[in-house]
Amino acid sequence: MPEPITGRCLCGAIHYACGPLLYPLTLCHCRSCRRASGAHALGWLTVAATDLRYTQGQPVEFESSRGRHRAFCGHCGSPLTYRSDARPAEIDVTLGTLDRPGRLAPVDHIWMEDAPGWDQPGDGLPRYPRGRHA
Ligand SMILES: [Zn+2]
Ligand SMILES: [Zn+2]
Repeated sequence: MPEPITGRCLCGAIHYACGPLLYPLTLCHCRSCRRASGAHALGWLTVAATDLRYTQGQPVEFESSRGRHRAFCGHCGSPLTYRSDARPAEIDVTLGTLDRPGRLAPVDHIWMEDAPGWDQPGDGLPRYPRGRHA
C-alpha cells in the first residue's frame, strides 16, 4: 500500500491525509492563486474529493470567485484547498503544505498570462498561458 500523502497548515491546527493523485502536479500563476497565497505561484496536487480527509481540525472555506471555493486555516491562514463546482468530484491541495513536498514534483506551469513580467520560471518545464487543456 503506498504511503499516504499528508500535510498540515503552518500553525498545525489542521492536518490532512489524501491521495492517490489524479494528475501530475502543476504550479499555478493565476491572479487568484497569487492573491490567495501572497506568493507568485501556488503548487497544486489533485485528488478525488472523497480521498481528502482532515485528520485534525477543519479549514474555513470561501467562494473566491463564482463556483470556486478555497479553503484555508482560520487561525494561521495557510491556503489548503481549491475546488470548483465545474468538477465536483475533485479537489486540489496545496503542494506547499505537504509534510514531504520534495516527494512530488510539479511538471508544468499554468496561467502564465497572469504572471508579472519578473515571474520567469527557469526550470525548463512547459508553460501554458492558461490551463493545461486551454
Ligand atoms: Zn493553521
Ligand atoms: Zn491558480
